[in-house]
Amino acid sequence: MDRKTVNVGIESKKEVPAEALAAARHELGEHNGINMSIEASNTFTFKDSDAMNRAFLGEVGPKTGIYIYSRHLNPTILNLGRQIAAMEGTETAYCTASGMSAISSVFLQLCNTGGHVVAAKTLYGGTHALLTHFLPQKCNITTTFVDIVDLEEVDKAMIEGKTSVLYFESISNPTLIVANIPELSKIAHAKGVKVVVDNTFAPMILSPAKLGADVVVHSISKYISGEADIIAGAVCGPADIVDQMRDPHEGPLMLLGPTMNPKLAFEISGRIPHLSMRMKKHCKRAMKYVTKMKELDPNLDVLYPGLKEHPQHSLLKSMSNKDYGFGGVFCIDMKTEVLAYRLMDKLQNSTKFGFMGVSLGYYETLMSCSSSSTNSMLDNKEKESAGISPGLVRFSVGYVGTFEQKWSQFTKAYSEM
Ligand SMILES: *Cc1c(COP(=O)(O)O)cnc(C)c1O
Repeated sequence: MDRKTVNVGIESKKEVPAEALAAARHELGEHNGINMSIEASNTFTFKDSDAMNRAFLGEVGPKTGIYIYSRHLNPTILNLGRQIAAMEGTETAYCTASGMSAISSVFLQLCNTGGHVVAAKTLYGGTHALLTHFLPQKCNITTTFVDIVDLEEVDKAMIEGKTSVLYFESISNPTLIVANIPELSKIAHAKGVKVVVDNTFAPMILSPAKLGADVVVHSISKYISGEADIIAGAVCGPADIVDQMRDPHEGPLMLLGPTMNPKLAFEISGRIPHLSMRMKKHCKRAMKYVTKMKELDPNLDVLYPGLKEHPQHSLLKSMSNKDYGFGGVFCIDMKTEVLAYRLMDKLQNSTKFGFMGVSLGYYETLMSCSSSSTNSMLDNKEKESAGISPGLVRFSVGYVGTFEQKWSQFTKAYSEM
């Protein structure tokens, strides 16, 4: 079989994300419906045996409207991929069944057995576990964890000829460390290392690929879906990486099969046009809360990149797209787990400020104590090293209700502490 893959991306390097999205208008439906059609077929037929042969030889493909099997390529998922590529300003993108499958597939695409990864030590718990346990045990791919803020440490950890990936989150979970994407990319590229950025915390706000990253991954389950109802992911990057991930003989997306359902791809595509508005709302509300919280109690340990005292406040400002903000997540360090849980209990059950729950990007506020939930797989030393205190409460700020209403719910709960 010919290994030729087809570039199915779009050019959208210069525009800001909202403009790029508008320019990358989705295809019309089959009967000129203003929404795209759902291609709910797992297999596709051909006009004759010659056409079938040519499809399998890779001579014809999606550009000429020829598809083979939906684990390989599905037009509805491809349409969603075009929207996500436009948002991230990458040549192409493809969507997967979860954020974790997007992340693990990228590692398996870019690293071979015996390979080496340099990764930030503050990462989503699942990614940290993948790099700490699964990849070394199953694939002999090892990781050196670094303080992503310390550029010299990052540089030293990358071994030329051995390290193939530098991996970090644009804004880290849950410690909200902002990565210097342009500088980190320069350092990595000088050693021939690919830069992979998890941009789950900052869709629309940051465009890592425009700042130098090679591949951008997303958990669509969070802000992009926005309703806490879907598990999905995306890989965005150049065609020679993303399309190769669907290679019939070697591609992890093809062979491990973390395929998105086209019905879900359709659902998600309808939420992308209002992602920009939602992100602005999340950011604005988060900024307002932390400002008021600092006024309410100047001793409260609030962590948010929008605060001037945050160590990467100006860095984030310099990298972010115009008119967004500093993200929709902030943390309060209550110092102990007991106080963290008491605060969350009051906020959920006494004043109805939000819900206890992991995940983020919902229209209601979600609260979790990271140390004993999303990051519980880290041991105490790893937690301390990653800056995750036992009393750290993460707030994924919702935007429903008026600010005044929500603020009175917060102050009431806080005064009862
Ligand atoms: C949730 C999350 C993931 C994993 O995504 P799933 O869709 O749950 O598989 C990866 N990275 C970050 C930063 C996340 O918040």
